[in-house]
Amino acid sequence: MKTLTEKLLLPTSTAGSLPKPSWLAEPEKLWSPWKLENEELLNGKEDALRVTLQEQQNSGIDIVSDGEQTRQHFVTTFIENLAGVDFENKKTVFIRNRYDAEVPGVVGPVSRQKSVFVEDAKFLRAQTNQPIKWALPGPMTMVDTLYDDYYQDRKKLAFEFAKALNEEAKELEAAGVNIIQFDEPAFNVFLDEVNEWGIEALERATEGLKCETAVHICYGYGIKANTDWKKTLGAEWRHYEKTFPAIQQSNIDIISLECHNGRVPLEVLEMIRGKKVMVGAIDVARNEIETPEEVAATLREALKYVDADKLYPCTNCGMAPLSREVARGKLNALSAGAEIVRKELQTQAA
Ligand SMILES: [Zn+2]
Repeated sequence: MKTLTEKLLLPTSTAGSLPKPSWLAEPEKLWSPWKLENEELLNGKEDALRVTLQEQQNSGIDIVSDGEQTRQHFVTTFIENLAGVDFENKKTVFIRNRYDAEVPGVVGPVSRQKSVFVEDAKFLRAQTNQPIKWALPGPMTMVDTLYDDYYQDRKKLAFEFAKALNEEAKELEAAGVNIIQFDEPAFNVFLDEVNEWGIEALERATEGLKCETAVHICYGYGIKANTDWKKTLGAEWRHYEKTFPAIQQSNIDIISLECHNGRVPLEVLEMIRGKKVMVGAIDVARNEIETPEEVAATLREALKYVDADKLYPCTNCGMAPLSREVARGKLNALSAGAEIVRKELQTQAA
C-alpha cells in the first residue's frame, strides 16, 4: 500500500463513518439501534461492508474504509467489548463539555479479552486490494465518553485503554490494514490534558506498529450540540495551535483535520509541516454538496502549508448522520476536487 499512496498524488479517503443502509439501522441517527438480530445481523453487517466499499470505489476514493458499518458508535462499540465495562447500566454523562449522552461505565479493571473489529477487517481486506484505513477511538476520547466508577483517574484509565487499543491495532495490522487511525475529537476540548498525557497515551496505543498511524482531530459530527458549540468559539478557531507543537514531535505519521468551511485558519498547518495531513475538504455538518471547485479551493489553500506529497484530501469528520444520497454526492465532490488539483500539480511539475 505504501507504493500505492506514495505513487498517487493526493490520495483521497474519508474521516471514518459513512451512512448505513436503512435495512441495517435507522438512517441519519447516531447510536441508531440495529434492525436485525443474531445471524441475520452478522450477514447484514457483511453486506453493508460490501455496499459501503462499492460506494467508495464508485466515487473514486483511493484509501477505503469499513465506513464503520458494523458499529453503533465510533467510541462506545469498542468500549462495550472490553472487560471491566458495564454497558447494561448506562448513565447520562455530559461529554466533551457539550452534550448529554447515555454511555457505558467502567466498573472494574479494563482489559481486551477478544478482538473487536479484526474479523470485519479481514472481511474487508478480502474484498479489495486498495489500501485500507481503520479508525479506532483514541484513549482520551474514550475516557470522555463513559463514566468511571473504578479508576477515577482520567490519565490512568486512558493508559489502560491505550493498552487495549494497541492489542487491537496490532491484530488489525496483521489482518492487512494499512493505516490505523485514532479518533481524538477530545483533543480540541481538553487542550492542557492533551499536552500533559493525551499524546503520550496515543503513542502508547501505537507502540510497535509498523503500518502507518493517524490521529483524527475535529470539531465533531454535524449534530446540533456540536454546531451550537461551534457558534461559541469565536471568529477564529485556534485550538490546533495549542496541541500541534507536541503532535509535531510525536511519532504519529498522519494528522487528519477539519479544514473546510469552518473557522480554522489554515496557516496553523505550518506548525506540523513534515507530517502527512488529511485535509478535511468536505463539510459534514450541512447537506449542501460542495462543488469540486470548492473542494479544490480548500486543497489549494492547504498546499501553502502542506507539501503536495504529504497532502491527503479527506472529509472534515464522519458522515454517519447524513443521508446516503448526500454522502455519495460529497464523496464524488471530494474525488473530483482532488482531481482538479492533481492535474494542476502535474502541469506545474511538467
Ligand atoms: Zn471527527
